[in-house]
Amino acid sequence: MKKDRIIMLSDCQSFYASVEKASSPHYSNKPLVVAGDPARRSGIVLAACPLAKTYGITTAETLREALAKCPELIVVRPRMQHYIDVSAQITDILRKFSDLVEPYSIDEQFIDVTGSLSLFGSPRQIAAAIQDQIRRDTGVYVRVGISYSKVTAKMACDLWAKKNEEGLFTLTREQLPTLLWQLPISQLFMVGRRMSAHFQSMGLVTIGHLAQLPLAELKWRMREKFHKNCDVDAELYWRIANGVDDSPVNSATYEVAPKSVGHQMTLPRDYYTLKDIKTVLLELAELVCRRCRKLKVNGAVVSVGCQGASFDAPTGFSRQSTMSDPANATNLVYESAVALFVLHWDGQPVRRVHLSLSSLSDESQYQLTLFESRPRYRALEQATDDLKNKYGDTIIGRAVSFTDAGQIKDRAGKIGGHYK
Ligand SMILES: [Mg+2]
Repeated sequence: MKKDRIIMLSDCQSFYASVEKASSPHYSNKPLVVAGDPARRSGIVLAACPLAKTYGITTAETLREALAKCPELIVVRPRMQHYIDVSAQITDILRKFSDLVEPYSIDEQFIDVTGSLSLFGSPRQIAAAIQDQIRRDTGVYVRVGISYSKVTAKMACDLWAKKNEEGLFTLTREQLPTLLWQLPISQLFMVGRRMSAHFQSMGLVTIGHLAQLPLAELKWRMREKFHKNCDVDAELYWRIANGVDDSPVNSATYEVAPKSVGHQMTLPRDYYTLKDIKTVLLELAELVCRRCRKLKVNGAVVSVGCQGASFDAPTGFSRQSTMSDPANATNLVYESAVALFVLHWDGQPVRRVHLSLSSLSDESQYQLTLFESRPRYRALEQATDDLKNKYGDTIIGRAVSFTDAGQIKDRAGKIGGHYK
């Protein structure tokens, strides 16, 4: 039998707030939040330091609510580029312990130390050394989950290391039944509130209930429950509950901007109705998917967005979501794009629309991997999306097939590919 790997997930506590406190020592004993626009009380709290949290302040609430709970709160404007730099600095620290380091989000990174044990000591000693050095060099406190796979390291961190005194926790294969399986199903990685309710209604109250079902039965029961084939999802949850994850810690995939195939269209006039916009989305989905099919790639992440006509008063958004399966079929991508658009469009007039597919994979070899199907840099992209919405539309500039000005001009006379 092959020997188990030793994989860790390090997660920064209150990342943005910790970075700010580290760079302004006079704030060290004060409650601090990083928030959208400190001048406007409607700004959103992006991160709260542990001290601020003791006042009941939580991320995603408004600054007004936070200040009501703690009038002496220090409010700091976000410095995204600085956080990205500190995240890269943490990657460099981790690389001293192993060359296999994979950033998972702006404040979470996987590290495979299987080959480093003889050099640096036991897994726990390595994790403690990582914790010390990151704290010393950046002022950020990391919690570390230690296990034999990425998915179990992630759960070791979220479910135990974040909640105990040392900020370290080892979850072994042998402990799954006695520790992981005892927890309620809502605690399982990737299970949200809605899915948790579904599982409970199926009698799957603990993680162990799900883990101990034969996979074929889980597939069958989810198919009955949701009236459609959910085999991919069933297998995903079953693997997570059983700690089955062979995916490597992939240092080669370190890239901030995933490759994407995208297209945008500038419209001849403002569009006001979803019906009109859907025509444009269909045209864009067809262009993007045709290009993907030609390249023989599927995309897992669909991004969609729009802008209004005014440069002085910019409106619009750019958002992305992961499809349940990577695809290059026009109808699937179109459906995801419409769903995303409906969710985020505030009804303002639209003058430009873009659509792209990213997290591309070879269409012939789609396989189930727990981490590839999620956008690796979701937190980072979320953060950068916000900046782009504010400062301009560079997401499209990333796209491989970005239309040049001439094509946009040409397209401007057309709707859904037809001249008006
Ligand atoms: Mg964190």
